[in-house]
Amino acid sequence: MDPIKLVKGFKDLLPEESAKWWFVELRARKFFKNFGFSEIRPPIMERTELFQRGIGEGTDVVEKEMYTFTDRSGENLTLRPEATAGVIRAYIENGLFTREAVSKLYTIGPMFRRERPQKGRFRQFHQINAEVFGVAAPIIDAEIIIMVNEFLRDVGLESLSLEINSLGCSECRPSFKQELIAFLEAKKETLCPDCQRRIGINPLRVLDCKVRTCQEATVQAPLVTSFLCTGCHAHFDELQKYINRFGITYSINPKMVRGLDYYTKTAFEITTTHLGAQNAVCGGGRYDELVKQLGGPDVPGIGFAIGFERLVSLLPMSNLYDNSPTLFVAPLGATAHEKTFALLNSLRLSGLSCVSEYNANVSLKTMLKRADRSGARLVIIVGEDELLKEEITIKDMQTGKQKSFLLSDWGKIIATAKQGEL
Ligand SMILES: [Zn+2]
Ligand SMILES: [Zn+2]
Repeated sequence: MDPIKLVKGFKDLLPEESAKWWFVELRARKFFKNFGFSEIRPPIMERTELFQRGIGEGTDVVEKEMYTFTDRSGENLTLRPEATAGVIRAYIENGLFTREAVSKLYTIGPMFRRERPQKGRFRQFHQINAEVFGVAAPIIDAEIIIMVNEFLRDVGLESLSLEINSLGCSECRPSFKQELIAFLEAKKETLCPDCQRRIGINPLRVLDCKVRTCQEATVQAPLVTSFLCTGCHAHFDELQKYINRFGITYSINPKMVRGLDYYTKTAFEITTTHLGAQNAVCGGGRYDELVKQLGGPDVPGIGFAIGFERLVSLLPMSNLYDNSPTLFVAPLGATAHEKTFALLNSLRLSGLSCVSEYNANVSLKTMLKRADRSGARLVIIVGEDELLKEEITIKDMQTGKQKSFLLSDWGKIIATAKQGEL
């Protein structure tokens, strides 16, 4: 029979990679907790309407990329293409805003978009998302920017660059939008087909189009920062004051607009030139009107997303995410197998990561080869000789040293194993 194949655009995460993922996840959880965040896990499937309302009709995501289907009872459902809408839905539905004035939430998990397959891009991709609800003051914008920037450095990313911008609010953005549309209409012929279409739907996005002719055409485009109302201006200034106070470097990029429509005021992006090319690893911004738009209270919000695949692919090699066991237990022969069964599991229960050989008829040479491949530094050898003397031998694969221990000397065995070397 032919084996069934993986769905196109999807990817298996194999053990050698998942160790790195775990490392990043654990660090994120610890880091975010220090900043007062707790985890929320909304389901990955929501009503299609939520994304239509939350992300906006007319966006590529909603129009072309969502995995949407009708289930057996006729409901229109979608696999989440991003996390914020679902988190807000849960925040509203569970009344989190009635319990606390400020909610700081993060979530880690898969998102789904049916994009054109490209190298390194998958239709199921993963993000680390964090959202804060209930703080209008720019001090929180600065706090989460600092948090994510330092988190990325903490896991090992180098050459980070932080760009910030303000996208204005419902009061000042319309006049900017109007001016921008007029400017773009005049240059329409020189824009790429996507951007020609965007003028009517989401003109801001033309500003961060990667096509060269579009970039040239928008060099002289009006800048959102010169249209900011007094409130937005003050917010942007304060934000910079706080970032400066902490002392991380950044630049203002008035053309950075972020993909989604719902952002207000602060927008930011962190890129890295680690490994040569410039890569965005994190993007985020404020969305003061989105909670209300989704039927909730009038509560301001701000958040960011880190692309997991991208981040992991940029991390340097490190033994920090070495997933090797501490011990390999090598019993030689049937009696040794029986005798070491309890020992092996007791070692595990005392907190040591141990693997073993299941075949009783394997030679010492083969076993040591397997032990070496497992990555364990210490091997516990239990042979016929050892059994007669009620002993075991511990071998350090790195130094080649060997030492015998009485089986009854359990405390010494554990201590040596925990030390990880002879
Ligand atoms: Zn404004
Ligand atoms: Zn374009």
